[in-house]
Amino acid sequence: MLLLRKRQDDDEDEGGYESLEDLPPPPTSSGTEMSGYSNVTRAKMRTIQGQLKTLDFDPGVIDGKWKLGGSTYTAVKGFQQAYDLTADGKPGRLTQEKLAEAANAPAPEPEPELEPEPEQLYELALHQSVPDASEGAIVGDGGGPPCAVVKGMIAGAFELETCDPDWLPESSPYLVQNTNPAIVFKDEEGHGGDRYMTRRMAAGLDALAVLVANEWPGVKLRVTEAWDREAEHRHDSTHYEGRGADITTSDKDQSKYGRLGGLAVATGKLDWVWYEDAYHIHVAVRPDW
Ligand SMILES: [Zn+2]
Repeated sequence: MLLLRKRQDDDEDEGGYESLEDLPPPPTSSGTEMSGYSNVTRAKMRTIQGQLKTLDFDPGVIDGKWKLGGSTYTAVKGFQQAYDLTADGKPGRLTQEKLAEAANAPAPEPEPELEPEPEQLYELALHQSVPDASEGAIVGDGGGPPCAVVKGMIAGAFELETCDPDWLPESSPYLVQNTNPAIVFKDEEGHGGDRYMTRRMAAGLDALAVLVANEWPGVKLRVTEAWDREAEHRHDSTHYEGRGADITTSDKDQSKYGRLGGLAVATGKLDWVWYEDAYHIHVAVRPDW
């Protein structure tokens, strides 16, 4: 009976110094400074406290100190109770072994993701926009007449006739010509207008071109309309400012357009993405100015 009790109390089987009188002589260097429990050094006690903390048994300040009734004592006791050891709050040899074992055990495998990665499957539904708000609310209305791509240039109402046919998009400080070879430009107008856009739009389309090429090898991003000088859009269209673009894939496979919209969103650079109709995706960006 006594033997059995002794085994269970293995923790105490270290000759336990419990009072100051029992402690060994004061240390001569900080490395052998004692913790206040048995013959455990402060360095060793800090390790124990760290392990307790790892296992969510709060030892208080990690100071390498142990005292009866103190926070480390309480934490040790909690650990001992949880691990079916004699709960005396004393970090004896057995407790130390169990602590090291428990604290170094590999973390449990994280729960598998319940939802698939959005970028893997994400598609827009027909007529859906991201964000789910009007274009004007997200990027602001286009407003300017076809040639008035410089903000504030035209204060008056929209009038088709105000477009100066000699006005060149190159003269705008806000339009750049996108010459990215990874993008197909429809350019049905024949004057290269589809290549003109704001810098922010160019950056967004360049990023999207990479995603498209990765998604469908051999397929490119296709721009059917960017800056519009022919007034083909409604009067406050972002196309007039080079902040709107209509896109498809180069193979014109409509079954890809929902995914194309999802990729456009995934760039994080196209501020408003709209699956406008079965034939194209419309994207828009905030003004650079
Ligand atoms: Zn459009």
